[in-house]
Amino acid sequence: MRKLCAGLFLCGFLAAQTTVDERTFARIRSEEAEHSQIMHTLHMLTDRYGPRLTGSPNHEAAAKWAVKQLTDWGFQNAHLEPWDFGHPGWLNERAAGYIVSPVHENLKFEVLGWTPSTKGTVTASTVQIVLPRGPEIPRNPDAAPGRGGRGAPAGPQYQQPTQAELTAWMDATKAAVKGKMVLVGKAAVIPVNFEPPALRRDDEQVRQSYDPNNPNASRGFGRGGAAGRGTPDPSRLTAAQVGEQVDAFLVANGAALRVNDAAMDHGLIRAFNNRTFDEKKAVPTVVMRNEDYGRIERLMADGEDVKLEFNIVNHWYPEGKTTYNVVAEIPGSEKPNEIVMLGGHLDSWHAATGATDNAIGSAVMMEAARLIRALDLKPRRTIRVALWSGEEEGLLGSKAYVAQHFGTAENPKPEWATLDCYFNVDSGTGRIRGANIFGPAEAATVLRPALKQFEDFGVFGASVTNSRATGGTDSTSFNAAGLPGVGLGQDPIEYQSFTWHTNLDTYERIVPEDVKRAATVVGAAIWHVANMDQMVPRFTKDAMPKPPAQ
Ligand SMILES: [Zn+2]
Repeated sequence: MRKLCAGLFLCGFLAAQTTVDERTFARIRSEEAEHSQIMHTLHMLTDRYGPRLTGSPNHEAAAKWAVKQLTDWGFQNAHLEPWDFGHPGWLNERAAGYIVSPVHENLKFEVLGWTPSTKGTVTASTVQIVLPRGPEIPRNPDAAPGRGGRGAPAGPQYQQPTQAELTAWMDATKAAVKGKMVLVGKAAVIPVNFEPPALRRDDEQVRQSYDPNNPNASRGFGRGGAAGRGTPDPSRLTAAQVGEQVDAFLVANGAALRVNDAAMDHGLIRAFNNRTFDEKKAVPTVVMRNEDYGRIERLMADGEDVKLEFNIVNHWYPEGKTTYNVVAEIPGSEKPNEIVMLGGHLDSWHAATGATDNAIGSAVMMEAARLIRALDLKPRRTIRVALWSGEEEGLLGSKAYVAQHFGTAENPKPEWATLDCYFNVDSGTGRIRGANIFGPAEAATVLRPALKQFEDFGVFGASVTNSRATGGTDSTSFNAAGLPGVGLGQDPIEYQSFTWHTNLDTYERIVPEDVKRAATVVGAAIWHVANMDQMVPRFTKDAMPKPPAQ
């Protein structure tokens, strides 16, 4: 009898959760197959408004375009929500660089973000400086091998110098940099890769990683932090401290321009930012493709006087200190105060138009919600799309939004209790393979039936995480607050290998079939969640994991 009761109870629970609205799912599939807008959205966000650096007029124009587009699609309350970025906006307008002696050639490079312009055309001889370093860091023999990424240092890694070592080196080097094009560091040696990473994940591995009965299942394969090597030595500087002092050293000693090695193969370049976001604290700086950097180094090793010429024009936008998240809604018919959110970051780096990171994530989420609107479906709960800025500088836009609207598990605002969950896409063009949600096991249980409908698209389930650490992408800003953030795991395609943050992150690298599938899956999943009888199960107060120590 007891067994029977338990069985009945369990059946009742599962029956409530496994029912999916298959008829509407079919309509969502055909709407996307027949009337997709996703590649047009991608085109506008990349070709028309990219790159979308936080605080730049490009980003603001993209955000305003998204508000208008969502309004035209029939969303309500589409608007920009300002938050304080704290730094001016910056964009490179033009940049040209050449070797002018002993050979003549265009150089391929990107300008480092938030660095100053050259004063017109500047021509000067090169000098190469190599920073001091500490002893080699012993390899951890248990460390897992890297996952086919590119640019991750494969060779030995070294500790940073002590302050005394760095100061002595700067004293000995300062006379050499005045008025020079300064190459910082030896050219990286990037051997030919005989084992290119797979573009898709193996079905069986994906199945296992989302299998609730597999005790060894990973927490999905969303974005994670890099594995550290050993404990830092407090007598040594950090990489950030060394970077800041070297920039100050180049400014103080009158270097004409700084050249960094991109240290990637096939002409790939990743250009980020001057850490201080302050143009007075850096000289004009470029990140040069490894092939050009190596050529200059080899010519210098022949004893040649190598001369470079640069002309760089950057613009600064003080008004970019205030930047914006985009928010738009489909109001709920029965429980308008309960919110199902979906989003991704709209901002990008500037070496290309930021197609895979993350115009496409924004386009997938806009499209997923458009499917609900286009079919004139009436969700019971409110569906809210959010497109963040400031992700690339540290998840800043989503953190600001979560702090302002929800607070944290320990210090909640009223809306903390009424956010159902938040879905995020930010791993490039690859098709969605599963979902990883912050919460108890039951949180994945309620997502699985909806995802199960898309096994023909390669979607194989849901897993849970109990980590409140931030990193990787914006869903972790929700996890950190104790809210059910959902990270969607995707096929890698060329994300880590070619497009992530690189000068090749363009429209052409998107796989239309994959992103249409992604929009269909997310559209169906939010429809499912927005209409369930209960909100997505979350950790009780007692079971809530502690936030990581700051
Ligand atoms: Zn991203």
